[in-house]
Amino acid sequence: MEKQTVSFYSEFQCLMGDCRESCCQGWEILLDEKILRYYRSVPGFQGLRLKLSTFLMREPAFAAGGGKCAFHDCDGLCGLQKKLGEEALPEICRVYPRMRKNYGILTEEWLDLSCIQAASLFLAHREELRLIKKAEENPPERHGNNDDYAFFALLRSYREKICLSLGEAARNPSPEGLNSLFGQLLSFAELAQSECVKERYSFFERDINSFSPDRNNSLYPFSPELLGELMDSGFSHKELKKKSPFLYGLCKEYRKSFAGRGKQEELKQFISEYLEASPERTRMLIRYYQYGLLSDYFRIFEDYSFRRHILRGIMDVNLLLLLFALFRRKYGEASGEDEARLLSSCERRTKHNERVRKTLLARLP
Ligand code: SF4
Repeated sequence: MEKQTVSFYSEFQCLMGDCRESCCQGWEILLDEKILRYYRSVPGFQGLRLKLSTFLMREPAFAAGGGKCAFHDCDGLCGLQKKLGEEALPEICRVYPRMRKNYGILTEEWLDLSCIQAASLFLAHREELRLIKKAEENPPERHGNNDDYAFFALLRSYREKICLSLGEAARNPSPEGLNSLFGQLLSFAELAQSECVKERYSFFERDINSFSPDRNNSLYPFSPELLGELMDSGFSHKELKKKSPFLYGLCKEYRKSFAGRGKQEELKQFISEYLEASPERTRMLIRYYQYGLLSDYFRIFEDYSFRRHILRGIMDVNLLLLLFALFRRKYGEASGEDEARLLSSCERRTKHNERVRKTLLARLP
């Protein structure tokens, strides 16, 4: 089997006690039966702590409700790992943010950008994104069960076409150019969606620039109405105050300055001034969309939902754009560390919160 790994994958090292956005806070870690059996077998005081923190729950979890994990010590390290070793950690805590997916004939490995250190590596390497090919010797468990590998090969080569178009857009980035490219991708997705159910795949032979962009919607940036709807949906919620005070502060800035019908023109002006000030802002978001194709695009292999997965990335780009602009308004120019923090916080709220994700997607054009 073949394996593709994002080029900076092996550079990842957890910041541990120095992490400003630790994954041990704000995320519920569900515990499976296997790890619960192990916890029940742990003797002494550690065993008692484990039992007390999991036994009375209907759905046993660490950091239930999105607070801080009870084992996250004041030195920023994991108390469980220190006392009982790595085998005492739930699977996700052991591997995060390293992601691996096995599609049957190909495994892909990348770093999840909801981790601030992974986000920082992405930002440092964004102009040289590449996948390193190797032979897979130890494949992870199979993801999904579709075995139509001819379809997978078509999907895979089309992702390369999309990446080439994104690379061209990044060479000379402009909001109009990216809006047009997103419109073409959406038109491709609409056609693919309807043709796939008839098992007709000739649309894969077409270049992306042969699709006419959808002119009815602004996709980069989203219209102020749509941005407002996304912010008013589950994205900005009072529970954020506990889960991510940093993100909560930016949502508050949005509500103070732009919430409400009368403020739409101001929001439009604000976003367009932010974009016009530097093409680098659009270039970074193009690379972010490109990186998102690693985690989202092959979901199409399982559910054939081209439209949903193409749109997911476009929505993520727009939410990140708004947060970057709000950050600048509230605090001034973002440093590299601020950018990584913004990116990882936004990913946690969108990609890793299915409830929020569904509400957001329901509002898209
Ligand atoms: S968010 Fe990333 S860097 Fe921070 S503690 Fe978690 S894995 Fe380590």
